[in-house]
Amino acid sequence: MGKQPSFQFYPNDWSRDLEEYPLEIEGAWIRICCKLWWSDERGKLTRSDEQWSRILRVDNGKATSILDYIGEHKIGLVEKQGNNITVTSRRMYREYKSSISNKERQAKFREKGGGDPENWTSIRIPILKRDEYMCAYCGRRGDTVDHITPKSQGGTEDESNLVACCKRCNSRKGDRTLEESGMTFWKGYDIEKLQYNTNITPPSSSSSSSSSSEEVIKKDVKKRDSTANAVQGIVDLYNEHCPSLPRAQRISKTRKQRVTARLREYPEDELLWVDYFKMVESSDFLTGRNGKWTSCNFDWLMNENNIIKVLEGTYNNKEQGQASFDGIEGVLKEAFPDAD
Ligand SMILES: [Zn+2]
Repeated sequence: MGKQPSFQFYPNDWSRDLEEYPLEIEGAWIRICCKLWWSDERGKLTRSDEQWSRILRVDNGKATSILDYIGEHKIGLVEKQGNNITVTSRRMYREYKSSISNKERQAKFREKGGGDPENWTSIRIPILKRDEYMCAYCGRRGDTVDHITPKSQGGTEDESNLVACCKRCNSRKGDRTLEESGMTFWKGYDIEKLQYNTNITPPSSSSSSSSSSEEVIKKDVKKRDSTANAVQGIVDLYNEHCPSLPRAQRISKTRKQRVTARLREYPEDELLWVDYFKMVESSDFLTGRNGKWTSCNFDWLMNENNIIKVLEGTYNNKEQGQASFDGIEGVLKEAFPDAD
């Protein structure tokens, strides 16, 4: 990455973060930050204690005590290994990493869309909004856009050929048509959106085709931030796939916190929430079909210990046993018979 002549300085954050520390520390930290900026791996620099003392223009002992102070007070991350001391500015490093991944992402767009990334972004965003950041193929949160008919096979960038898609489905589908990949739109995806968009241009006035309750939900969803959106996504998946259980209606604060925590533990791309809920729905015990227990609901299913038990197959129907499916693997096979 090329060296840049300047870095962003946030006076407010700086004063707030450093106000309780001695002037000496503040001075040392700005000097270190300048060095970190010029480091090959921006925001992170490893030097011997000797070199640090030269950077700080103090003797070895003093340099060590300053770096210790910075580490202890979490102003920066200070790691020692033998004679070497690595200092990291979390913010600078994080921004550096995200600028790299942005570049990679743009390169990917270019590769995929063949056009310039900015143009692709301007095409992409309206599609994601139209589909409410929900994957057209699985219903989970989707923040990439897929060409239904791939460009390599003549697919256009017309709205009718583009849908929101999660990373997982996007890479699974790859450069193939729906037919070739054996994938389909998920039940909840309103294919009308695609036909509608081919015939009529203004994308903003799509109200006529959807019912009023859908409209309310749509407006509602837009207001929320992306976390809330993801939480709503999980609630929707539950309501959709677990019709035997009580509907989850309201997203209370506790619910939001709990679901957010689960999403962090099982990021949407990895844990197949759809499969999880399908597993629940197919269990005679959890749904109360065998009459032994009837207290299962959304909140129970969002409990971290319960998730593990369900995934381990604790509540699978006994008679189905090995014959039909065995835990999450089985559901996977059922959902994606072509996957290996
Ligand atoms: Zn998907």
